[in-house]
Amino acid sequence: MNFTDLGLAEPLLRAVRDQGYDIPTPIQAQAIPAVLKGGDLMAGAQTGTGKTAGFTLPMLHRLAAQGAKRDARGRIAIRALILTPTRELAAQVEESVRTYGKYLPITSMVMFGGVGMQPQIDRLRKGVDILVATPGRLLDHHQQGTLDLKHVEIFVLDEADRMLDMGFIHDIKKVLAMLPAKKQSLLFSATFSDEIKALADRLLNEPALIEVARRNATAENIAQKVHPVGRERKKELLSHLIKQGDWHQVLVFTRMKHGANRLTDYLNDVGISAMAIHGNKSQGARTKALADFKSGDLQVLVATDIAARGIDIDQLPHVVNFELPNIPEDYVHRIGRTGRAGATGEAVSLVCLDEEIFLRDIEKLIKRAIPRETISGFEPPASERAEPIVLGRMTIGIGGTRRGGGGGGGGGGGGGRGGRPQGAGGRPSGAAGSGGRSPSSPGQRPASAGGRGPGGSSSGGGAGRGGYRPPSGKR
Ligand code: AMP
Repeated sequence: MNFTDLGLAEPLLRAVRDQGYDIPTPIQAQAIPAVLKGGDLMAGAQTGTGKTAGFTLPMLHRLAAQGAKRDARGRIAIRALILTPTRELAAQVEESVRTYGKYLPITSMVMFGGVGMQPQIDRLRKGVDILVATPGRLLDHHQQGTLDLKHVEIFVLDEADRMLDMGFIHDIKKVLAMLPAKKQSLLFSATFSDEIKALADRLLNEPALIEVARRNATAENIAQKVHPVGRERKKELLSHLIKQGDWHQVLVFTRMKHGANRLTDYLNDVGISAMAIHGNKSQGARTKALADFKSGDLQVLVATDIAARGIDIDQLPHVVNFELPNIPEDYVHRIGRTGRAGATGEAVSLVCLDEEIFLRDIEKLIKRAIPRETISGFEPPASERAEPIVLGRMTIGIGGTRRGGGGGGGGGGGGGRGGRPQGAGGRPSGAAGSGGRSPSSPGQRPASAGGRGPGGSSSGGGAGRGGYRPPSGKR
């Protein structure tokens, strides 16, 4: 199948051609005709599958076919709203809207927290067709009366599972209440927990159902390795690997923000250019780090799990787990950053004795043992004893016990496998733009966040996407 077979208007096909794409990805091949028909859609797809164009192209087609709408004051009214969990994703989606809509007289804007309200208010005053926003800032504008969503015809909830994961359910419900009852709604989610299904029941009306295979994070084209190492020598080992291997564009994961900062300082001290990206960083710093990393100016990007979510950095040659995630599904997300769409990649994990419990959980999830390779000179010291890992309010004990720490804070943290401790990334500060609006259940991850395990869809991995070839030379 070719893009020209999908029924999209010529200006859209031209923009797609400009990107160097001929063949729609599986999600595009299914979603575009479904959205063009005008009905609701529930799609199972994650970042990296081409889902953004899957909803952006038919949305632009439909809006262009109808022509602009004016509000009571004669301004161009918002006809499409795209809600995303993170600022980075919002920025990327809006960039896609502009990329694919460049030959159409359609305007868009992005709206998220962490930056001033006034420029957004000024932009809204001018009128805009498509709004891409994170929930918190959207609600801030609505409360201030600077936003009118009465004319929305198409509503997209992107990465719905991430939204719930980040505690946005109440915000989403508030946004839904602001939208007209009659609209086309599209819900995209990588996983389908009961919570997502409940949300879909509420939002969608006889939706078309589309599911593309989950990117198979354990695909053959990702070489996974564990380097056992002493607790205190991880930094040295990392710089050794980067220098010895002459690695460029390395995405490094830490569990906590301060760990990301410390590691970044160390790498810069030893002559490896590195920047950290996490929720405590200003929007400007995050944008710059990402841009420098994508352009190849920055060798290492150090990220926490939540900060890395939804970021479109494709086909990285190296992903390093400086620390293993305490949530095994996060390992799958992390290593999925490499070896995408048929490219080869390497995912290495630096594992100290304390983290054996995490490694066990991960290997159970991915249903395979990850080969271990000790690097000469970095052998774990025989005298080292496992110590509990403190994650925010939760302590993960030696031998598999997980205890919720003190400090109250309600039903989130301890106990279950799904508990994401506070502080282990949390919600990026300001992602919602307003302080004090805390997640309803602190960090509780939907029970089936990893419901469709990687083992279950081996054909879905990069290479297996019939005919889908990322453009050559893309990042
Ligand atoms: P997404 O899943 O929307 O984040 O897209 C992942 C990446 O795939 C983006 O960098 C897109 O530019 C790229 N992409 C989208 N559609 C296609 C296509 N049909 N062929 C090749 N690459 C694509």
